[in-house]
Formats: sequence, structure tokens, C-alpha cells
Amino acid sequence: FCISRCSYCDFYSTLSDDETRDAFLRALLKEIQSTGYGEPIDSIYLGGGTPSLLSPGDIEVILDALAHAFKIKDGAEISIEANPVTFDRVKLRAFRSQGINRLSLGIQSLNDSELRLLGRIHTAEDAIDAINMVSEVFDNYSLDIIYGIPCQDKSGLDHTLRGILTFSPPHISAYELEYHENTLLHKDLIQGRITPPGDPDVSGLYIHLCDVLTERNYVHYEISNFSLEGFHCRHNLNYWLRGDYIGFGPSAHSLIGDRRYSNIADIKEYIDRVERTGSAVEKTILLTERDRIEEELMLGLRTSRGVDRTRFASDEPVLGALERDGLIHKNPERIILTPKGMLVSNAIIVELLERL
Ligand code: SF4
Repeated sequence: FCISRCSYCDFYSTLSDDETRDAFLRALLKEIQSTGYGEPIDSIYLGGGTPSLLSPGDIEVILDALAHAFKIKDGAEISIEANPVTFDRVKLRAFRSQGINRLSLGIQSLNDSELRLLGRIHTAEDAIDAINMVSEVFDNYSLDIIYGIPCQDKSGLDHTLRGILTFSPPHISAYELEYHENTLLHKDLIQGRITPPGDPDVSGLYIHLCDVLTERNYVHYEISNFSLEGFHCRHNLNYWLRGDYIGFGPSAHSLIGDRRYSNIADIKEYIDRVERTGSAVEKTILLTERDRIEEELMLGLRTSRGVDRTRFASDEPVLGALERDGLIHKNPERIILTPKGMLVSNAIIVELLERL
């Protein structure tokens, strides 16, 4: 659920009303209880929409259901996503005492004009208040920012970076603004109300933020993710390394072995199907060996682990050219994208896929 729709968001979420929320929670618990998985669970991630709108009581019920349905490892990472103005200190402390040990806060920018353009419900001052509260209660937390916003220049981005770095957050995610169809931002773009920065400007902002964060000892462990030593997000890393994950709720996606499946992206349909059958799976794909190898390449190249070099043993001339252009590093075992390579990761992935 979200309080209102951000202008750039194409995730499935819906505006909350009490009746739908209660029915959703009942369905969610039933879906969790109806799902089996034998392996111990290393991370739980409460995300999508704004889970910090839920009450601590709701969160407790969800965590209890998960603890009954699955074997949760001691010390598992348990994260919740939150947005400014949707919580206070009391709520945060309640989340913490329920076992949530990591919080991901969407602040996006510390410039009010950029926040308005993004359709965010909060101001820069609200974001600073939120970071203050989160950093008091959680040792392990992440701040999300967006770059490449229309009218954003290097000084605008620097203002946001300076503001968040005063807190030395353990983890930062920095996403390039995208103009997805069916979003308000896309409509503004088509109707000429906004002009996005050009590719060279966006690339410059990305390289700049990589430089600033690396200088501040952040490990650039995935295209959009930076962490202080030991604070990488286990949940996300599992996703990029193609570990199993199970998603619950409308539009949730899962991967178990070579089976990818997703739930229906409609809350009423979701509730109805789960009530009737315990499941709301709409689509299932059985991956072939080739699909799996392609996914490993696409996801692995996003991370600082890179991909297995031996797969490309006969392609040294291509790898040499990419390295000379400053797009990859290679060591005897792995191929890893540089920040410059991450800017054109899709083209490099296509190039390497053709050689598999
Ligand atoms: S708060 Fe997050 S999920 Fe909700 S509309 Fe904004 S970007 Fe989308």
C-alpha cells in the first residue's frame, strides 16, 4: 500500500483502505501458511509499497506466521522498507523489538523541487527527520536516492550526497530515474512538460556518485548499491546470485531452483484466489539450462563478484578490447564490470551472451 502514487513508480501498489488492508493481511497469512519450503531462511524482506504504514501489531502477526511456516536461521537479516512521514520513533522501536534488524528508507533526494517532481509525499526536512530517527534505532539501515532527475545537476546531487553522508549510513542504494510507460512522469515527458538530462549528463552523475561514495569507503558491490564493509544487503545479494526466494502478496515474484513464478498483480483478485485455493500464482516459467546460464551472467555482472571467466576462454580478444576501453576488470577467475562498464552493462551483457 502507498499513501499516494509517486510520479515515476511502476510497481504494483494500491492506496490503502482499512477493509482491503484487513482482507489482504488475512490472505497474506493464508498464503504463507500454505507454502512449504524445507531449507532454512537467511533473510526476510518486507517490501514493495510502504510496509511502514502497517502497525507494529500487523508486522508482528506477519513475522509470527513466517516463523511458524519456515525455519528462520538465527541472526537472519530481517528488513523493512519505509518512507518518511509514515512512522515515528515509537513505531520504529516497536519494529526493532519485534526482530526487524534492518530498515531501508526511501528518501530519493534532499531537494524539495526534485521531491515535488518525483511526486513524493515528503519534504527534504521530513527526510532528514526520518534519517535521524532511523539512525537512532537501527545500526543497519539503507538510504535510497535517485539520480538523473530532470533539472538535477552535479550540485543538486552533491547537496543530497552531502546531506546523507553526514549520517554515514551503512548502506546506500542509488537508482537512475526511469520513465516507465503508464507513469505520471512518462506522461509529463511525452507532453513536453519535463526534459530529462541527456545520457552524458546522467553518466556523469553516476560516475560522480560512484567516486564520492568510494572515497568515503563504500564498497560498490552492485550497480546501484554501496555499503560500508559488512553491511551489504544479504537479501538482495541472494537475488543477484540466483539463490532461492519466495515472494508473498500481489505481484510478488519467486525463484525456487529452476522455477520462476509470480502472483497476480491485483489485490482483489489476489485475496479472492488465496481465500479459495491458498495460492495466487498467475505465471510459472520453467527455466532451461541455457536460461539459467544467461541469468547467471546477467545478474552476476551487476555485482562486484562478476562472472566466471572460464566460460569465455575462447573470447580473449573481446575481453581484451573491453578491458582496454575501461569497461571490465579481469583476474584469472572472474570478469567484473568497472563503474564505466556498469553504465553500458546491457550492451556488454548482450555482447557476452552471444558468445556463450
Ligand atoms: S512509495 Fe514506493 S512503492 Fe509507493 S508509489 Fe512511491 S515508489 Fe512506488
